[in-house]
Amino acid sequence: MSCRSFDPAALKREFPGLADSGLHYLDNAATAQMPETVLQALYRFEIEARANVHEGAHRRARAATVALTEARSQVARFLNAHGPDEVVFTYGTTSSLNLLARTFGASLDPGDEILLSVLEHHSNLVPWQRLASARGLVLRFLPMTPDGRIDMGRLTSELTPRCRLVAMTHCSNVTGAITDVAPLVAAARVVGAKVLLDGAQRAPHGPLDMRALGVDFYAFSGHKTYGPTGIGVLWGRRELLEALPPFLTGGQMIEEVTLTSATFRPPPRRFEAGTPPIAGAIGLGTALGWMQSLDWRAIRKHEVHLTRRLLDGLASIKGARVLGPMDTEDRRGVVTFCVDAIAPTDVCRHLDGHGVALRGGHHCAQPLVRAFGVEGAARASLGPYSLDGDVDALLNGLEELVQGRRGPKARDGKGVPR
Ligand code: PMP
Repeated sequence: MSCRSFDPAALKREFPGLADSGLHYLDNAATAQMPETVLQALYRFEIEARANVHEGAHRRARAATVALTEARSQVARFLNAHGPDEVVFTYGTTSSLNLLARTFGASLDPGDEILLSVLEHHSNLVPWQRLASARGLVLRFLPMTPDGRIDMGRLTSELTPRCRLVAMTHCSNVTGAITDVAPLVAAARVVGAKVLLDGAQRAPHGPLDMRALGVDFYAFSGHKTYGPTGIGVLWGRRELLEALPPFLTGGQMIEEVTLTSATFRPPPRRFEAGTPPIAGAIGLGTALGWMQSLDWRAIRKHEVHLTRRLLDGLASIKGARVLGPMDTEDRRGVVTFCVDAIAPTDVCRHLDGHGVALRGGHHCAQPLVRAFGVEGAARASLGPYSLDGDVDALLNGLEELVQGRRGPKARDGKGVPR
């Protein structure tokens, strides 16, 4: 697919929720904004095709079913999956991971092991904790390097022949560090373990290639990939999904039901009980198609530039400390920081007063944040529409808070005050 030339300011104008808002939106790792094309697709669905899917005998139901089917195919193209039947629609990353814990987890025996890392979001930790206590499993953890990456040096000692699943984040929502997937997959293959990636923070940064990654399962959320809330994806290798039992049960996922028994459809519908999030799936399909039209090489260059500006600017502010790598290699534009003697909630509140949207707290990664010796931190996360002015508004507002000084400061090309 040919891509459009990239201009962040022009891209920002495609987002009605941002353009002319005066808002410096730096909370993209929590939820990104939706472009006009996605809003239009949602509106069109509600006006022209709103109906329930699958068993409809009328034209609207058929239109809705066709749109849902096309959305699934679009997700498969975004992921370079083997086919749309590998794409399960869920309600978000959290529901994808719980689905897998309940279904894949049902085949695990006491003493089996799951390998996680200390960088996991609670969504990729608590479901495995619950499963481990219910089935007598052992959870093992790869530790963190001092700069906030998964410590692959411990892979050989932590990945034992009892390991059945390696479940790790593809990109940390706190440190921004990108996981080096190849050694994980190679080591997991040696012991016959499956590999699951929590892609919630990687999927927003451009199309993926499940075949090249070589993993078995992948989860992500629509609201972080410029689509609606309430929709997510679990991708799984066809033969693995086929071997899993149902998760939720009820309508739409059955083949035949008697008063005392039921048989179930093949994947993906086996895992989609009830009316699916139809509008959400259609919006997500449109969002991923929109993402595929962008020049991600140019966006990456811009992201590296802004991340550098943010890291250098924070390094110049007295008492500010970044939780994560200070380089821009193998990390995304997710920058979490604390400031001596100022609570993260106060940092966020003060910056909100400057029109800067940040997030503060433990970021649903309490063990990780505590591993840095703090209870919470503020986080700025970039989107492809973020601009130098957004980063500078953050840095100026923060400096004002730290120094009690008023007024914007001129910054050089690196974001450092002149
Ligand atoms: N994993 C990671 C790494 C995340 O950043 C998030 C969202 N903060 C999730 C999982 C959960 O995503 P959701 O809330 O959309 O289910």
